[in-house]
Amino acid sequence: MLKNLSRYIDPERIRQQVPLKDYTTFRVGGPAAMMINVNTSKELSEVISYLKKCQADYFILGNGSNLLVSDKGYDGIVIKLSGELTDISANGDVITAGAGALLSNVCKKALEESLTGLEFAFGIPGTVGGAIVMNAGAYDGETGDVVDGVEAVNADGEILYVSPHSLRFGYRKSDVKKAGLTVVKVDFRLKKGNYNDIRLKMKELLESRIEKQPLEFPSAGSTFKRPEGTFAGKLISEAGLSGYRIGGACVSEKHNGFIVNDRQATAKDISDLIEYVKKSVYEHSSVKLEPEVIRLGKF
Ligand SMILES: Cc1cc2nc3c(=O)[nH]c(=O)nc-3n(C[C@H](O)[C@H](O)[C@H](O)COP(=O)(O)OP(=O)(O)OC[C@H]3O[C@@H](n4cnc5c(N)ncnc54)[C@H](O)[C@@H]3O)c2cc1C
Repeated sequence: MLKNLSRYIDPERIRQQVPLKDYTTFRVGGPAAMMINVNTSKELSEVISYLKKCQADYFILGNGSNLLVSDKGYDGIVIKLSGELTDISANGDVITAGAGALLSNVCKKALEESLTGLEFAFGIPGTVGGAIVMNAGAYDGETGDVVDGVEAVNADGEILYVSPHSLRFGYRKSDVKKAGLTVVKVDFRLKKGNYNDIRLKMKELLESRIEKQPLEFPSAGSTFKRPEGTFAGKLISEAGLSGYRIGGACVSEKHNGFIVNDRQATAKDISDLIEYVKKSVYEHSSVKLEPEVIRLGKF
């Protein structure tokens, strides 16, 4: 199986048994059976169409900043977007970025071009692809608000250009995965702004993150989605869970909405802590917390 993969991808970009802890911000997770680096949309289209023929499982990895990978790893193919799929360019008030580009680099490009609209995203440690899938947002801004169009590859390997409307962006979600799409490139439509105002806003929001978030420890950011009308961190604190620990994983005392890996946690520690927090918050306040973090592999 997969013996013909090297027809589409340079064999140097096909690796076996790659430890995923090196590719996630939680710094946990066992190996991927295979990891391939895909450099162009043509390659991506050919690889996805080939994997479909082989009925092989694959997973698109962004920056792994919203991911909890099982200690047993993932028994499939992890696709990492690289090469020209990390390029960023500007044309008027549109910035086009490859899905593998870091969102923070797109923000820097927007600043360079004095384009406003992406300030909220400065400091979100994901890629463009991950930001589209999750509709990443902060400080009253969301990725979906500034998307003009998305180039994607569908599950048959066809390259499409889709409108933001058809991706149905919602709170920390979109229909990208449901539609079987892999994001390839994104056009962000921004507005002409003032360089200094944009720079100061980005600086202010970054400082606010440094002040409020436990950035000194590995995490995946907010572990849970914000429940309607309240905050996950508040409910977690009211349930008496600030600082609660399972193994090397802990509910951050600095920000109760974050679970951090502060003592060489396993993925199981983190997963068990997520379940414990969910159960305790439900018992305490009857609110069902929904994890924002995505699990990969068997738990
Ligand atoms: C310290 C910290 C702070 C954070 N702050 C915020 C915040 O303020 N707001 C916020 O919304 N999030 C925040 N996050 C969470 C995270 O950064 C976002 O969810 C981000 O959008 C995930 O992007 P990623 O590239 O890391 O995706 P990954 O975690 O790698 O993947 C997430 C999902 O996207 C899919 N995916 C990735 N790329 C593609 C692609 N090209 N095509 C199809 N599917 C793809 C993956 O398969 C997976 O299902 C934070 C995380 C950390 C660690």
